[in-house]
Amino acid sequence: MSYVSKQINMEYTILNNGVRMPMLGFGVYQIENIDECRRCLSAALESGYRLIDTAAVYLNEEAVGKAVINSGIDRRELFITSKVWIQDMGYDSALSAFDRTLRRLSTDYLDLYLLHMPFGDVFGAWRALEELYRSGRVRAIGVCNFSKARLADLMSHFDIRPMVNQVETNLFCQQKDMLGFCHRHDIQLEAWAPFAEGLNDFFNNTVLRRLSLKYNRTPAQVALRWLTQRGIVVIPKSVHNDRITENFNSLDFNIDYEDIAELDMQDGQIPVVGNFEDPDFVIDLCGRKYDI
Ligand code: NAP
Repeated sequence: MSYVSKQINMEYTILNNGVRMPMLGFGVYQIENIDECRRCLSAALESGYRLIDTAAVYLNEEAVGKAVINSGIDRRELFITSKVWIQDMGYDSALSAFDRTLRRLSTDYLDLYLLHMPFGDVFGAWRALEELYRSGRVRAIGVCNFSKARLADLMSHFDIRPMVNQVETNLFCQQKDMLGFCHRHDIQLEAWAPFAEGLNDFFNNTVLRRLSLKYNRTPAQVALRWLTQRGIVVIPKSVHNDRITENFNSLDFNIDYEDIAELDMQDGQIPVVGNFEDPDFVIDLCGRKYDI
């Protein structure tokens, strides 16, 4: 199967090191079944997605690698992201984790490599990422789930500033302060759980529903467009082909200023999916060990 000749309508952001990153990609968290992951990613690539967001801990890097090879798409057209899990935080272990990730993905470089969590030997792991970046094996490096203070700490102690911070960002947890901080320091904000994983009756939110009628779009498309119009990269996940296409087709309309202001007012200001300030949650995360 080959999607090489497909015309793609995509918007891009330029990272602080000059690398071009698509504003919309496909996330593969919670698609652990190998065949299912290959099927979904193939559908996503066929729809036009070129950014793929995986992680060692999603246990599907191998399936991602196979779907990519099967697509026939030139590797240089793709933007592949993966992440180091907590158990591999540290200089030596992050370097070996990176090698294993590349092997599983059947590629010889990553477009973006992220520290998955702000826990463990973060400084050691960041030294490893800086080295991988300088050696050209990764085109950009960044972090996930870092607070403003953790970002400031990292930036104060290293030469290379993270190019991306990937955090939970959606209608109910809008990350307005984080977005301001990222703008000031030229760090790209990337939204995980752009639909809050459907929690809190996300898709039935009354403002999303009203605007979906006004713009003749689905609530999912309005939710994604509102994020990309704010300059935030989105990586929605779905296992359904029609939703995969629906989510991809969210860049070809614009939400008016007054409607954006109304969406902005839906902010609950606290994470819906994962609260990294909750000590019990952190202890649970740090205790999870995987064969990766
Ligand atoms: P999400 O994208 O907010 O939500 C996925 C949920 O929405 C699924 O239940 C999906 O159901 C449903 N859905 C998707 N499109 C829909 C549509 N058009 N209409 C109705 N329902 C729809 O949640 P997420 O998967 O947690 O986040 C996205 C990506 O972010 C992940 O896949 C992963 O790559 C990344 N992520 C990163 C971190 C991190 O710590 N760095 C944490 C979590 C996630 P179906 O699948 O049944 O369609």
